[in-house]
Amino acid sequence: MSFQSLGLHPKLLSALHKKAYNTPTPIQTAAIPLVMNKHDIMAGAQTGTGKTAAFALPLLHDLITNADNHPLPGIKVLVLTPTRELAQQVHSSFVEYSTGSSIQCVATYGGASINPQIEKLSAGCEVLVATPGRLLELLFKQLIHLDDVKAWVLDEADRMLDMGFMPDIKRILPYLPQNKQTLLFSATLNKEITGFSNLFMTKAKLVEVDNRNASADKVEQTIYQVDKAQKSAALSYLIGSRNWHQVLVFTRTKIGADELAKEMKKDGITAQSIHGDKSQGARERVLADFKERKIRALVATDVAARGIDIEQLEYVVNHELPYNAEDYIHRIGRTGRAGAAGLAVSLVASKEQYLLKDIEKLLGINFMPQWLEGFEPSQDAIEQEQNKRKPSKKSLRNKALSGKDNRKPRRRR
Ligand code: AMP
Repeated sequence: MSFQSLGLHPKLLSALHKKAYNTPTPIQTAAIPLVMNKHDIMAGAQTGTGKTAAFALPLLHDLITNADNHPLPGIKVLVLTPTRELAQQVHSSFVEYSTGSSIQCVATYGGASINPQIEKLSAGCEVLVATPGRLLELLFKQLIHLDDVKAWVLDEADRMLDMGFMPDIKRILPYLPQNKQTLLFSATLNKEITGFSNLFMTKAKLVEVDNRNASADKVEQTIYQVDKAQKSAALSYLIGSRNWHQVLVFTRTKIGADELAKEMKKDGITAQSIHGDKSQGARERVLADFKERKIRALVATDVAARGIDIEQLEYVVNHELPYNAEDYIHRIGRTGRAGAAGLAVSLVASKEQYLLKDIEKLLGINFMPQWLEGFEPSQDAIEQEQNKRKPSKKSLRNKALSGKDNRKPRRRR
């Protein structure tokens, strides 16, 4: 299968040729013909599978073909993304793929001044990539209208739900015309997503490619059993001794990300953190420095890491395992992009064993945890692992979610 045989416009083919994309990925092969034939789709595709091009290419094909015949002003394509980073990423994909055409693409997102975005919008916009909050602001202020939208995309719909965007999306819906094409992309297609999609689509074609392990297959995964207190030192040691550059490190919390970056700096590793409490400007600077290899380690939370697309990012480290096993797949999918090789290292403390089990269950594999020389787990941790005295999943999760420790202190005998 080639992009040519999918019938894409020659301008798109030439842009793809410049990007050296030779073959469509499975999600592209499955989704592009359906989108070109104006079907609504519900696609199960993770980041890293080429999902952006799976919707951007057929939508641009339609716009370019129509622009050649009879150009009409107005926003024709709306893409909603959960985060600013993803909005920027999707926007630059549209810009790159539409090189050589007259299609204008604009990104609008919160955390940045609205005025430059308004200026860009007033200069003309056929493709708008937006986060829900900023889009609503523009709609409430009557600075834009969505009457001409022919197709809209909900990108990373599962993440939108997780981040509580459901009410915003319900508010946006009435601004869209009745007759429009709807494309929903989600890493997971579960009951919540299906229920949510019922609000606005009924006859969607389901597109599911075997992508559950797509990232995982390409990525070498290593698990080190390390005591919690040793994790930061072990990480700096790994990065230093193995001469890793451009390492994306995941923590569960924003505070944890800041603290870890500080620790690593003390160990002589250039590190910065990126998360939602940082200003948009600061996030962009850090990301640019990381891309240019001015900083060696970028410590990120799951939400902030969405949309970080760095070609040939070789190393991902889970300083802490995520509470949600699917987030593990998203995390390691940051490396091994579109078929490249990558390494994902997880530092797992004894109390995280149950999270590792969740991940093993989801991936359908059993890891062989290793010890890192000089950072072997303490005897207590080993015994705990051997005796399988694990605290119940529920209580730990509840504690994490509520910020409280509900467990009663154990009496000494
Ligand atoms: P996405 O899943 O949209 O985040 O894309 C993951 C990465 O794959 C991005 O860096 C894209 O530029 C790249 N990509 C998308 N489609 C292809 C393709 N057909 N061939 C090679 N790389 C691709």
